Amino acid sequence: MKLTIGFLYGRLMNIYGDRGNVATLVRRAGWRGIEVEAVTLNAGEPIDPDLCDIYVFGGGQDKEQFVVADDLASGNGERLKEAVEGGAVVLGVCGGYQLLGHYYKPHGHEELRGLGLIDAYTVAGDTRHIGNIALAGPFGELVGFENHSGRTYLGSGARPLGAVTKGSGNNGEDGTEGAYTGRVYGTYMHGPLLPKNPALADRLLSEALERRHSGPVTLPPLDDTLECSAHTSALSRPR
Ligand code: GLN
Repeated sequence: MKLTIGFLYGRLMNIYGDRGNVATLVRRAGWRGIEVEAVTLNAGEPIDPDLCDIYVFGGGQDKEQFVVADDLASGNGERLKEAVEGGAVVLGVCGGYQLLGHYYKPHGHEELRGLGLIDAYTVAGDTRHIGNIALAGPFGELVGFENHSGRTYLGSGARPLGAVTKGSGNNGEDGTEGAYTGRVYGTYMHGPLLPKNPALADRLLSEALERRHSGPVTLPPLDDTLECSAHTSALSRPR
Protein backbone atom coordinates (compact mmCIF):
# COMPACT_ATOMS: atom_id res chain seq x y z
CA MET A 1 0.00 0.00 0.00
CA LYS A 2 1.20 3.52 -0.76
CA LEU A 3 -0.34 6.79 0.34
CA THR A 4 0.46 10.31 -0.91
CA ILE A 5 -0.45 13.29 1.23
CA GLY A 6 -0.57 16.76 -0.32
CA PHE A 7 0.05 19.85 1.80
CA LEU A 8 -2.10 22.23 -0.22
CA TYR A 9 -0.54 25.73 -0.52
CA GLY A 10 1.77 24.71 2.28
CA ARG A 11 3.97 27.81 1.93
CA LEU A 12 0.98 30.13 2.28
CA MET A 13 -1.63 28.30 4.34
CA ASN A 14 0.19 27.06 7.42
CA ILE A 15 -0.57 29.14 10.47
CA TYR A 16 -0.92 27.78 14.02
CA GLY A 17 0.98 24.61 13.18
CA ASP A 18 -1.42 23.16 10.64
CA ARG A 19 1.58 21.47 9.02
CA GLY A 20 1.40 19.15 12.02
CA ASN A 21 -1.66 17.52 10.48
CA VAL A 22 0.51 16.34 7.58
CA ALA A 23 3.16 15.02 9.96
CA THR A 24 0.52 13.15 11.96
CA LEU A 25 -0.91 11.42 8.89
CA VAL A 26 2.58 10.50 7.67
CA ARG A 27 3.55 9.06 11.06
CA ARG A 28 0.32 7.14 11.68
CA ALA A 29 0.55 5.57 8.24
CA GLY A 30 4.26 4.80 8.60
CA TRP A 31 3.79 3.21 12.03
CA ARG A 32 1.52 0.72 10.30
CA GLY A 33 4.06 -0.10 7.64
CA ILE A 34 2.24 1.84 4.92
CA GLU A 35 4.54 3.48 2.35
CA VAL A 36 3.71 7.17 2.56
CA GLU A 37 4.95 10.34 0.91
CA ALA A 38 4.13 13.97 1.69
CA VAL A 39 4.35 16.64 -1.01
CA THR A 40 3.83 20.41 -0.75
CA LEU A 41 1.60 21.80 -3.50
CA ASN A 42 2.24 25.48 -4.25
CA ALA A 43 0.37 28.22 -6.06
CA GLY A 44 1.17 28.31 -9.76
CA GLU A 45 1.89 24.58 -9.91
CA PRO A 46 -0.84 22.53 -11.65
CA ILE A 47 -2.33 19.91 -9.33
CA ASP A 48 -2.27 16.32 -10.66
CA PRO A 49 -5.75 15.07 -9.61
CA ASP A 50 -4.51 11.50 -9.32
CA LEU A 51 -1.34 12.14 -7.32
CA CYS A 52 -2.55 12.73 -3.78
CA ASP A 53 -4.90 10.62 -1.66
CA ILE A 54 -5.32 13.22 1.10
CA TYR A 55 -5.07 17.01 0.84
CA VAL A 56 -4.40 19.06 3.97
CA PHE A 57 -5.49 22.68 3.39
CA GLY A 58 -4.28 24.78 6.32
CA GLY A 59 -5.20 28.16 7.69
CA GLY A 60 -3.99 31.56 6.58
CA GLN A 61 -4.54 35.28 6.84
CA ASP A 62 -6.80 37.09 4.41
CA LYS A 63 -3.85 38.22 2.31
CA GLU A 64 -2.79 34.62 1.69
CA GLN A 65 -6.37 33.64 0.95
CA PHE A 66 -6.49 36.23 -1.86
CA VAL A 67 -3.51 34.53 -3.55
CA VAL A 68 -4.90 31.05 -3.03
CA ALA A 69 -8.39 31.96 -4.27
CA ASP A 70 -6.85 33.33 -7.47
CA ASP A 71 -4.85 30.14 -7.97
CA LEU A 72 -7.90 27.98 -7.37
CA ALA A 73 -9.86 30.05 -9.89
CA SER A 74 -7.05 29.64 -12.43
CA GLY A 75 -7.54 25.90 -12.83
CA ASN A 76 -6.35 24.22 -9.67
CA GLY A 77 -9.83 24.41 -8.17
CA GLU A 78 -11.24 22.26 -10.97
CA ARG A 79 -8.32 19.84 -10.65
CA LEU A 80 -8.92 19.56 -6.89
CA LYS A 81 -12.62 18.90 -7.49
CA GLU A 82 -11.64 16.21 -9.97
CA ALA A 83 -9.45 14.62 -7.29
CA VAL A 84 -12.37 14.66 -4.83
CA GLU A 85 -14.68 13.10 -7.43
CA GLY A 86 -12.03 10.40 -7.75
CA GLY A 87 -12.27 9.70 -4.02
CA ALA A 88 -9.51 11.86 -2.53
CA VAL A 89 -9.89 13.08 1.06
CA VAL A 90 -9.63 16.77 1.98
CA LEU A 91 -9.12 18.33 5.41
CA GLY A 92 -9.54 22.11 5.38
CA VAL A 93 -8.63 24.12 8.47
CA CYS A 94 -9.91 27.66 9.06
CA GLY A 95 -8.83 29.68 5.99
CA GLY A 96 -8.62 26.45 4.01
CA TYR A 97 -12.04 25.40 5.31
CA GLN A 98 -13.50 28.76 4.27
CA LEU A 99 -12.29 28.28 0.69
CA LEU A 100 -13.80 24.79 0.55
CA GLY A 101 -17.20 26.49 0.82
CA HIS A 102 -19.00 28.59 -1.79
CA TYR A 103 -17.24 31.84 -0.87
CA TYR A 104 -15.40 33.78 1.80
CA LYS A 105 -16.09 37.54 2.06
CA PRO A 106 -13.22 39.33 3.84
CA HIS A 107 -13.62 42.78 5.39
CA GLY A 108 -13.90 45.50 2.74
CA HIS A 109 -13.33 43.10 -0.11
CA GLU A 110 -15.54 41.33 -2.59
CA GLU A 111 -16.27 37.64 -2.10
CA LEU A 112 -13.43 35.19 -2.72
CA ARG A 113 -14.92 32.34 -4.72
CA GLY A 114 -14.48 28.97 -3.03
CA LEU A 115 -14.64 25.44 -4.32
CA GLY A 116 -18.19 24.67 -3.23
CA LEU A 117 -17.04 21.26 -1.97
CA ILE A 118 -18.80 22.05 1.31
CA ASP A 119 -22.27 23.63 1.26
CA ALA A 120 -21.36 26.66 3.34
CA TYR A 121 -20.38 30.31 3.04
CA THR A 122 -18.30 32.60 5.23
CA VAL A 123 -18.42 36.31 5.99
CA ALA A 124 -15.75 38.12 8.03
CA GLY A 125 -17.10 39.40 11.36
CA ASP A 126 -16.13 42.47 13.42
CA THR A 127 -14.50 40.46 16.19
CA ARG A 128 -12.26 37.42 16.27
CA HIS A 129 -13.10 34.09 17.86
CA ILE A 130 -9.91 33.12 19.68
CA GLY A 131 -9.25 30.36 22.19
CA ASN A 132 -9.43 26.69 23.01
CA ILE A 133 -12.36 24.87 21.49
CA ALA A 134 -14.03 21.48 21.86
CA LEU A 135 -16.96 19.72 20.24
CA ALA A 136 -18.98 16.53 20.47
CA GLY A 137 -20.12 14.91 17.25
CA PRO A 138 -20.29 11.83 15.01
CA PHE A 139 -16.48 11.41 15.10
CA GLY A 140 -16.36 11.70 18.87
CA GLU A 141 -15.04 14.52 21.01
CA LEU A 142 -12.58 16.80 19.20
CA VAL A 143 -10.34 19.48 20.71
CA GLY A 144 -8.34 22.30 19.17
CA PHE A 145 -7.63 26.02 19.04
CA GLU A 146 -9.52 28.61 17.01
CA ASN A 147 -8.57 32.08 15.76
CA HIS A 148 -10.82 33.49 13.05
CA SER A 149 -13.02 36.47 12.25
CA GLY A 150 -14.94 34.50 9.66
CA ARG A 151 -18.46 33.39 10.43
CA THR A 152 -19.34 30.22 8.53
CA TYR A 153 -22.94 29.23 7.89
CA LEU A 154 -23.83 25.72 6.73
CA GLY A 155 -26.35 24.88 4.02
CA SER A 156 -28.51 21.79 3.97
CA GLY A 157 -25.88 19.84 2.10
CA ALA A 158 -23.31 20.02 4.87
CA ARG A 159 -23.28 18.29 8.24
CA PRO A 160 -21.40 19.83 11.18
CA LEU A 161 -18.43 18.03 12.72
CA GLY A 162 -20.34 18.50 15.94
CA ALA A 163 -21.84 20.72 18.57
CA VAL A 164 -19.52 23.15 20.35
CA THR A 165 -18.93 22.30 24.03
CA LYS A 166 -16.27 25.00 24.49
CA GLY A 167 -15.50 28.01 22.30
CA SER A 168 -17.33 29.56 19.33
CA GLY A 169 -17.10 27.22 16.34
CA ASN A 170 -18.49 28.08 12.92
CA ASN A 171 -20.08 31.39 13.78
CA GLY A 172 -20.58 31.73 17.53
CA GLU A 173 -24.34 31.70 17.00
CA ASP A 174 -25.72 28.29 16.03
CA GLY A 175 -23.55 26.07 18.24
CA THR A 176 -22.02 24.16 15.35
CA GLU A 177 -18.36 23.64 14.53
CA GLY A 178 -16.89 22.51 11.25
CA ALA A 179 -18.57 20.61 8.47
CA TYR A 180 -18.22 17.55 6.30
CA THR A 181 -19.60 16.27 3.06
CA GLY A 182 -18.49 12.85 1.82
CA ARG A 183 -14.71 12.75 2.24
CA VAL A 184 -14.32 16.54 2.51
CA TYR A 185 -13.88 17.86 6.05
CA GLY A 186 -13.60 21.42 7.27
CA THR A 187 -12.96 22.82 10.72
CA TYR A 188 -11.82 25.92 12.59
CA MET A 189 -9.71 23.73 14.86
CA HIS A 190 -6.02 24.53 14.66
CA GLY A 191 -3.66 23.06 17.21
CA PRO A 192 -2.77 21.18 15.05
CA LEU A 193 -5.95 19.20 15.03
CA LEU A 194 -4.94 15.64 14.28
CA PRO A 195 -2.22 14.81 16.85
CA LYS A 196 -4.73 15.26 19.70
CA ASN A 197 -7.62 13.64 17.81
CA PRO A 198 -6.17 10.32 16.60
CA ALA A 199 -9.49 8.69 15.73
CA LEU A 200 -10.19 11.44 13.19
CA ALA A 201 -6.68 11.09 11.76
CA ASP A 202 -7.26 7.36 11.28
CA ARG A 203 -10.64 7.99 9.66
CA LEU A 204 -8.96 10.18 7.03
CA LEU A 205 -6.25 7.57 6.47
CA SER A 206 -8.78 4.75 6.11
CA GLU A 207 -10.90 6.68 3.61
CA ALA A 208 -7.82 7.61 1.58
CA LEU A 209 -6.62 3.99 1.50
CA GLU A 210 -10.09 2.83 0.46
CA ARG A 211 -9.84 5.07 -2.57
CA ARG A 212 -6.43 3.82 -3.64
CA HIS A 213 -7.05 0.17 -2.81
CA SER A 214 -10.74 0.04 -3.79
CA GLY A 215 -12.24 -1.39 -0.67
CA PRO A 216 -12.68 -0.92 3.06
CA VAL A 217 -9.44 -0.74 5.00
CA THR A 218 -9.21 -1.48 8.71
CA LEU A 219 -6.12 0.00 10.28
CA PRO A 220 -4.45 -1.94 13.09
CA PRO A 221 -4.69 -0.02 16.38
CA LEU A 222 -1.79 2.06 17.69
CA ASP A 223 -0.81 2.83 21.27
CA ASP A 224 -2.44 6.28 21.57
CA THR A 225 -1.63 6.79 25.24
CA LEU A 226 0.31 9.99 24.51
CA GLU A 227 -2.24 11.31 22.04
CA CYS A 228 -5.10 10.71 24.46
CA SER A 229 -3.15 12.38 27.24
CA ALA A 230 -2.64 15.44 25.01
CA HIS A 231 -6.36 15.39 24.18
CA THR A 232 -7.34 15.31 27.84
CA SER A 233 -4.88 18.05 28.68
CA ALA A 234 -6.22 20.27 25.87
CA LEU A 235 -9.78 19.61 26.99
CA SER A 236 -8.97 20.79 30.50
CA ARG A 237 -7.64 24.13 29.28
CA PRO A 238 -9.94 27.09 29.88
CA ARG A 239 -11.44 28.81 26.88
N1 GLN B 1 -8.47 34.90 7.47
C1 GLN B 1 -9.51 34.00 7.96
C2 GLN B 1 -10.25 34.57 9.18
O1 GLN B 1 -9.73 35.45 9.85
C3 GLN B 1 -8.91 32.65 8.33
C4 GLN B 1 -7.97 32.74 9.53
C5 GLN B 1 -7.23 31.44 9.80
O2 GLN B 1 -6.98 30.63 8.91
N2 GLN B 1 -6.82 31.24 11.08
O3 GLN B 1 -11.36 34.11 9.48
